[in-house]
Parts: sequence; C-alpha cells; structure tokens
Amino acid sequence: MDLFEYQGKQYFARYDIPVSPGGVATTVDEAVEQAEAAGYPVVVKAQVQVGGRGKAGGIKLANDAAEVREHAANILGMDIKGHTVEILWVELASDIDEEYYGSFTLDRAAKQHLLMLSAQGGIDIEDVAAKDPDAIVKLHINPVDGLSAEAARQAAVDARIPERAVDGVGDILGKLYRCFVDGDCDLAEINPLILKPDGEVHALDAKVSLDDNAEFRHPEWEEYGKTEVLDDREQLAKEKDLTYIGLDGSVGIIANGAGLAMSTLDVVNQVGGTAANFLDIGGGANADVMAAALDVINTDENVKSIFINIFGGITRGEEVAKGIVEGLGRVELRAPIVIRLDGTNAEEGRQIILDAGIPADRLISKPTMLDAAREAVRIANGNGGEA
Ligand code: GDP
Ligand code: MN
Repeated sequence: MDLFEYQGKQYFARYDIPVSPGGVATTVDEAVEQAEAAGYPVVVKAQVQVGGRGKAGGIKLANDAAEVREHAANILGMDIKGHTVEILWVELASDIDEEYYGSFTLDRAAKQHLLMLSAQGGIDIEDVAAKDPDAIVKLHINPVDGLSAEAARQAAVDARIPERAVDGVGDILGKLYRCFVDGDCDLAEINPLILKPDGEVHALDAKVSLDDNAEFRHPEWEEYGKTEVLDDREQLAKEKDLTYIGLDGSVGIIANGAGLAMSTLDVVNQVGGTAANFLDIGGGANADVMAAALDVINTDENVKSIFINIFGGITRGEEVAKGIVEGLGRVELRAPIVIRLDGTNAEEGRQIILDAGIPADRLISKPTMLDAAREAVRIANGNGGEA
C-alpha cells in the first residue's frame, strides 16, 4: 500500500525523522486554517501518489492567507498525471541550502536491504542514475546485522555530502532504516532530504510503500486503508476479496495459485501478448470465486481475451467449470474465454462446460498452457498470431 506524502511524513515522525509542521486540508478555508497554525511562509502541496508534483504546478509557496487561498483554489481539483487533487498538505516552508536523496528498499536478488544515497536530490533519481550513476552510493545491508551508525555516516561521506551535513544525514539514515525495518516498508524514500542554512537535516518529501503482508501487526495502518487509492478494477477485486493486481495489457488472466499465475503472465509474454492483470483465485476456489473473478476482469476495458489457467489440486475442475458457467450467465463478458483445465476432476469440469452449450467462439478449451496462451494472445492481438 502506497501512502500519500502527508501520511508518509506522519509515519516518519513515529521514528523521530524530522519533518516540517503542517496539516491536511480538503478545502480552501481549511488550507488557510492549517497555514495560520503552521505559521508563514507555507508551502501548499498537492497530495497525489505520483512524482513531479512541483513541475506540474502542484507545489506553491504562500506568504499570507490571500496567497494560500489563491494556490489552494488552483491546486484543489487539479489533474496531475491523471490523478485529481482532493487533498492538500500545508506546511511551514523551509529554507534550503542543498537537496539530497536517500532511500531504503529490498534488493530481492541480493537478499539484502539496499540503501541508495545521493548528494544530487530533489530531481528524479532515475535521471541521476541515467546521467551520473556514480553520484548514487549503493550500500547493501545484511538484514541480520542491520545498519550501524558508522556505516550510515560513511555512506554520507562516500556520497560526497558536505562535512557539515554528514552527521545529520547519517542520523536520519539510521532513523529511516528503523522506519523501513520496524515499520515494515517496501520502500522508504526521502527526496529531497534537505540541508537547511542552520545545518539541520530534514525530510522535505516522503514516499512510503507499506508491505501489505505485515498489516496484521500494524493496527495503526487501518487509517491508511481508508484513503488507499485503487483503480475501479482493484476496488472491486478488494470488495470481492480477490488477490488481484491491475496491469495494462489485453489478456485477462485467472489462475489458481500465485506461482501458476506468475507463470501464466510469463507464458503470455513469451508468445507475444501482454497481461491485463494478475489474478490468483487461490487453492480450493469454488464457483462463487470464479464468477467474482470474471466480474472483475470484465470491468477492464482493455481486455480482449480471458485466459483461465487452472491446474486442479485442491481446486476442483468441476467447481471451476460451474463458476465459469455461472459467471457467463451473470454477466455479458466483453471477451471470449480460453481455458486450460487440468488436474483434479478436469474431465468432469470439461463435461460441465460442454453440457452448458456455450458457443464455440465464446469459450475455447486447449489441452496445454502453451496452446491456451497462444490462442488467448492470438485473439487479443486481433488474430495477428505470435509476435
Ligand atoms: P515532488 O515534486 O512531487 O517530488 O515534490 P517535493 O515535495 O519533493 O517538492 C519538489 C520541490 O519543491 C523540492 O525539491 C523543493 O525544491 C521545492 N520545495 C518543496 N517544499 C519546499 C519548501 O518548504 N521550501 C522551498 N524553498 N522549496 C520547497
Ligand atoms: Mn520529491
């Protein structure tokens, strides 16, 4: 789950990472109230989960109530890269001497935590990586050992952060690492991490992504769930309790088990197609779950074919088949289904589908995963065949 900047800053504050005082507003009047409370000058910041808000005009400095009014009115309702601004964060403006970049993520391949630090912050880190890769210090951290204060300080030195900011940066990195680990983040990023004229180092922006698997031990995350930004498909999937991730391809995917679902995405790619989603209906899925899965896929306008890939173990073929028949009876599917049904009770399943008398151009059965993928991609690509 991705957090808004203001939520990320509130999360940072739990771990003593210094942030500017401020408050949330959803109306112009509230923005003024928050500015009065924070003290002028303030920065009025659009809260959308996309970078480059500054460039898009979503971040403005205001010296008095009149300016807050003007900027808040302009920014509320603004469209930033397809995200409509509904929330503002108003905070005491900071004086900036320098802008740095710091983040912690998990490097899955290395099975270690990864610190990235750069003296070139404020701009997209991808741009820094492209133009001047040496300007980014990367430090792998063994999760068992953690990050020592000395190693954090040394990273700042290696990143050529000026002497007077090294202690402050090292200190914040230590706190950010604790936030990342104890706070169960997938990503904890500060860009920019600023050096103020008085020598204080401070988080001016916050990008935090929480690891949903750890939700059970974080009752404090409940409030973030209320503002979670999901697209229509993801919203419906959540309501129906499905493990769904929206993608932007044209082959809708339903599989049982995360591993098989991932393989299905791979094989679709391999034969020249693009997946519209990841959807794992889990083990022991029944007819209801299958029908719900079809419902969700059907809300996706990009879907041109639906590839159902089931290898029955606990999941039984006849339940899957019943679900498909039920789903077809409930909703007018926008795309034909290509199914590969194998494993437990697959024969019974195929018979149920046959007996239902579904037209041959609406449901196509294929014996193997590869055959089914080829057929689904052929349909999705407008019968163009393999790429
Ligand atoms: P982003 O563009 O979405 O990453 O938004 P940021 O919160 O990172 O802000 C973008 C830029 O606006 C920063 O890099 C700063 O240069 C500037 N900015 C944001 N807050 C302040 C502030 O309090 N004072 C000053 N002087 N500049 C700010
Ligand atoms: Mn930023």
